[in-house]
Amino acid sequence: MNNKEIAHQFSLLSKLMDIHGENSFKSTTYSVTAYKIGQLTVDLQTLSEENIFKINGIGETIGKKILEILSTGKLKILEDLISKTPDGILEMLKIKGIGPKKISLIWKEMGIENIGELLYACNENRLLLYKGFGKKTQQNVIESIEFYLKQQGSFLFAQVETLGADLEIFLQKLFSSKEIKSTGDFARHAETVDMLEYVIPFSSKVILEKFEPLEEFEFLEKNEESILYKYNDGIKIKIYFTEKNSLLKKLFETTGSAAFVSAFEIKFPAIDFQKINNEKEIFEQAQIQYIAPYLRENESVIEVAEKHQIPQVIEPGDIKGIIHCHSNWSDGVNTLEQLAKACIKSGKEYLVISDHSKAASYAQGLNESQIKEQHLLVDELNEKLNPFKIFKSIESDILNDGSLDYSNSVLSTFDLVIASVHSNLKMNEDKAMMRLLKAIENPYTTILGHMTGRLLLSRKGFPVDYKKIIDACVANNVVIEINAHPRRLDMRWQWISYALSKNVLLSIDPDAHSIPEFDNTRYGVLVAQKAMVTKRNNLSSFTLNEFENFLKRKQSI
Ligand SMILES: [Zn+2]
Ligand SMILES: [Zn+2]
Repeated sequence: MNNKEIAHQFSLLSKLMDIHGENSFKSTTYSVTAYKIGQLTVDLQTLSEENIFKINGIGETIGKKILEILSTGKLKILEDLISKTPDGILEMLKIKGIGPKKISLIWKEMGIENIGELLYACNENRLLLYKGFGKKTQQNVIESIEFYLKQQGSFLFAQVETLGADLEIFLQKLFSSKEIKSTGDFARHAETVDMLEYVIPFSSKVILEKFEPLEEFEFLEKNEESILYKYNDGIKIKIYFTEKNSLLKKLFETTGSAAFVSAFEIKFPAIDFQKINNEKEIFEQAQIQYIAPYLRENESVIEVAEKHQIPQVIEPGDIKGIIHCHSNWSDGVNTLEQLAKACIKSGKEYLVISDHSKAASYAQGLNESQIKEQHLLVDELNEKLNPFKIFKSIESDILNDGSLDYSNSVLSTFDLVIASVHSNLKMNEDKAMMRLLKAIENPYTTILGHMTGRLLLSRKGFPVDYKKIIDACVANNVVIEINAHPRRLDMRWQWISYALSKNVLLSIDPDAHSIPEFDNTRYGVLVAQKAMVTKRNNLSSFTLNEFENFLKRKQSI
């Protein structure tokens, strides 16, 4: 064990003591010790016990701890603290811009336990409510978390969408071949992507030579079918190399999931790829409907294509209204009027304003009198902006016992209510189901918001029996949100086909906290396409007229 490693243990000890709010005098001593050990010119492990105690500034207590580390490799008091600290908090120490004292506050007061949750909280401006966190700190934290996550190698689809498309064009130019296409998870619009993949109709030798001078591509490894690079120190890029005449075959094999590709090959063993000029012809030869890359997940889609029953799926342009949007009345950044005008400018017919409810104090949830005030303002704006319409809504917390956040008399003043869980997210399935089912059965609930509370790449979400939830939504005429925030995409697309089979209405909602986040709907649409959602299945595709009729029907039930 060298000095650097010993110093690291003292430094970590000091930080964890600060995080746990333990004796700050001792913690300072350990941090000074770490510094001193780092400065020593003599290697501690070569010294006798006696000589260690003789070092200037190292007394009895510290000396004993150094000996403990040298003989066991560990420090008991540090191990105890580590075991009391969630992994996500330990990881937070790697983020520049937040020291142990801030981490302590983030953990103990904001209830945030990992980096992903922290990033989401920054995006919701939640840090600004605490002492010592200004706009600048928050921005720095966002940037260092994004940098850190980039090093970890997994990305949200939204984070790499532009890069993935740009690289396709770049590679087409580099190899003067229009046939180069993206493949794999990215081509299937997966919610998260670990690498961008492309098929290139050249030999590995040619490809290696072409990439050699490109500094942004760092060579990682090569096997018999592909070469792996790291792009700009971030995402991995996999290049499949292939003969020119097997390009389409390779593309087909690497685009679909393994389950889809093998089921297809078993069903249609006689496809002659040599006779094919483009991907569509593969399906023509099989005499089935074209299956777009984003649908090539489950083998069951093949049967649907055989019956020519793949519908015209929803497109981003089919979204007619912004449902689920936060203004500066709670934790959003824009005024109601700015939001409404931005909707009008982007061709939307209506806006459902749904700020946080009073229990969400961290997000400045609205109390009863603020609701009254906001409704007056909505009435005023509606007069001014007619025929555009703002609907009065709220994202009501589903409280710990499953009830909504206001009395019935207040709830009845909204045009519609979105009910979501934001607190006590750590619960077992029984508890989660009790809260959700009770909220769904509440006659004031119109839409069930982000069903599991998951945050992609950071929080799994609480466990639910999704079929039971969908059944309850059908029975109670509750719409299920597809929260389109690229970090949520909740309910997940894999559950949508069951919902569609039960004829439940879905709603692709941006959960926007600012005007640019209206564009979140795009990511909701992309995952909805994977489940063959049509615009008729989606509430936010309803025209203003249809939306008003929907509300009337709901209120008359
Ligand atoms: Zn929410
Ligand atoms: Zn929200």
